[in-house]
Amino acid sequence: MKITQIILVSLLISTASLAIGHDKNKIESKPPVPKKMVTLIIDAGHGGHDPGNLNGSKGMMLEKDLNLTIAKKLGDYIEEFLNGQVNVIYTRDKDQFIALENRVSVANSKKADYFISIHCNSNNKTVTNGTETHVHNANSTVGINLANEIQNQFLNRAGRNSRGVKIKHDRGYNLMVLKDSKMPAVLVECGFMSNVTEEAYLNSDKGQSLIASAIFRAFRDYIEKRHGIKQNSHGAIQKTKTPRYKIQILASNTPVAIDMPDFKLIGAKIEEIKLEGNTFNYKYYVGNFENKKEARKMLKRVLESPFKDAFIMRFD
Ligand SMILES: [Zn+2]
Repeated sequence: MKITQIILVSLLISTASLAIGHDKNKIESKPPVPKKMVTLIIDAGHGGHDPGNLNGSKGMMLEKDLNLTIAKKLGDYIEEFLNGQVNVIYTRDKDQFIALENRVSVANSKKADYFISIHCNSNNKTVTNGTETHVHNANSTVGINLANEIQNQFLNRAGRNSRGVKIKHDRGYNLMVLKDSKMPAVLVECGFMSNVTEEAYLNSDKGQSLIASAIFRAFRDYIEKRHGIKQNSHGAIQKTKTPRYKIQILASNTPVAIDMPDFKLIGAKIEEIKLEGNTFNYKYYVGNFENKKEARKMLKRVLESPFKDAFIMRFD
């Protein structure tokens, strides 16, 4: 690169709203700042040929199905109340086997900010009941704080028995999804299927909604504090502006040179958005569509480039 080009690039990066329209790979250094966003992985435990814990009583659901039902309710609450501010990615959204390492690699490759895994417990002693939230180790302050919020919600708002926050020593073995995920990760045990009362609760729509809303409130309160995200007022999701769809191609904890060759392979304008307080503060996007169909077309193109983990992000 020539010196003049270096100067031009630095100028573009450092100067707000300086528009130079001729360069094909022109850089939009100061895009309209969207609301702060985080990416959350919701992981419904087990699935497919792995049923997880078996139903304690006849006619009750298998663990894999309870997990998926609660996971989807959690995702729905987030879509409804934190619309456009939290990007939800499911490790599975149907009854499907996903290996543990794939759950972790999805979370890591999407550079997610949080990981919440949903499970239901079982014990030989049928009297055992209550909720637990697991974290990998006591040094993960963010994970511990989020786990504490979840248990608080279970105990104080949903009226559940709390068995507390568990670290790996309590569990006796490492949970792979917690150990290998690069972002703060928690695993929620929503109750014991081996306890008749709790199993009935886990299988009821009301129980599932209370569990999902407790996890939702804990997550919402936590990210409100940490990222300044605000819940949409109930029933009045602001739809004054049509949503925009962009393709997220990369997230990084350090800035990436916007003129790097891999970006150029996409052949579209790269947009950098800096977000405070996320695990990955620098996010890179292409495209800006009102129409999701158009965004999907762009995504298809992007997936042919080196950015195999790109996905569509909605901005409200
Ligand atoms: Zn499980």
